[in-house]
Amino acid sequence: MSRIAVLIVAAGTGARAAMDKPKQYESLAGIPMLRRSVQAFLGWDVVQVVIGPGQEGLAAAALDGLDIPAPVPGGATRQESVRLGLEALADFAPDFVLIHDAARPLVSDAVTGNVVTALEHGAPGALPMLALADTLRRRDDSGWTLVPREGLYRAQTPQGFAFAAILAAHRQFAGHAVTDDMALAELAGIAIEAVQGDERNFKVTTKEDFGMAAALLAGETRTAMGYDAHRFTEGDHVWLCGVKIPHDQGLLGHSDADAGLHALTDAILGCIAAGDIGQHFPPSDERWRGASSDKFLRHAADLVAARGGIIAHCDVTLICERPKIGPHRDAMRARIAEILALDLDRVSVKATTTEGMGYTGRREGLAAQAIATIRLDVK
Ligand code: MG
Repeated sequence: MSRIAVLIVAAGTGARAAMDKPKQYESLAGIPMLRRSVQAFLGWDVVQVVIGPGQEGLAAAALDGLDIPAPVPGGATRQESVRLGLEALADFAPDFVLIHDAARPLVSDAVTGNVVTALEHGAPGALPMLALADTLRRRDDSGWTLVPREGLYRAQTPQGFAFAAILAAHRQFAGHAVTDDMALAELAGIAIEAVQGDERNFKVTTKEDFGMAAALLAGETRTAMGYDAHRFTEGDHVWLCGVKIPHDQGLLGHSDADAGLHALTDAILGCIAAGDIGQHFPPSDERWRGASSDKFLRHAADLVAARGGIIAHCDVTLICERPKIGPHRDAMRARIAEILALDLDRVSVKATTTEGMGYTGRREGLAAQAIATIRLDVK
């Protein structure tokens, strides 16, 4: 097995994006862009990050908890930063190195695999390329001249090389300004093989790029429903959607019998196909006797978060003749939003009766149904 190192170049100052901090440290759908780029390569032998001067604090925050060596400071140019990163990997002496821009967080395993396969089959250098789809025009004195796009390609990263050869090239041509590692490899006579790139692996540079990348990361939308009912019993209050409501009856149940939160918990569990509330909190378990149902709901939300998902929206309908829900609706929405840490406009609570029909109509009990929508990150 060949040993493969990854060098993530994150030394830029990100001036073009006009953001608060260098763009590689900006949040992309909740995760710093640099962290996403590093995470895309954690399966390889070592991931070395090169950062700009004074970015130690930003990098430490962005990379917190990841099992990688400390970032090394880069130089005044990208080329110099890459060379310093390669020097930091010299003791590890990998067979191959993949040099990747921190600003390409959507790199796929398929593209990286194409590069590695080419290297393992003997290519001294390999990089992902994409054909151009747009028509190209050059502006000159006579107007707009058509530039034939045949034979024109866009170079992406990771650019992969035999480690010893690219390190030697960087040392030899340290004084020559080149635009990327491919150009430097050509100076050093390292042959390059083109492999298939990916449109998603674009360089995130502007605010608009961040929006486009976030949309791609928004990933899969899922919706599921939940339903619950509880019987009325003697008592002086009910719990519904996390709110205590005075009433001339109570609700029978092992926990606090909050049918609204139970239905919503099941809806959220359904979105990630994680069973139902009874599997997670069995009624036979004494721990949940009289339990406050916000625990159940929070647990379901935590499971979604653990899958890299977010809750986009939830909607609960309470079905009963009594108690009157209207006066408590705002408090219910606020409580659910609080438990799920959502904005209020992502939480809906509605109520209806069944016009005297059925068990809710006879006031034997009440029912609730809920629907939840979540988004799972593609990464
Ligand atoms: Mg229940």
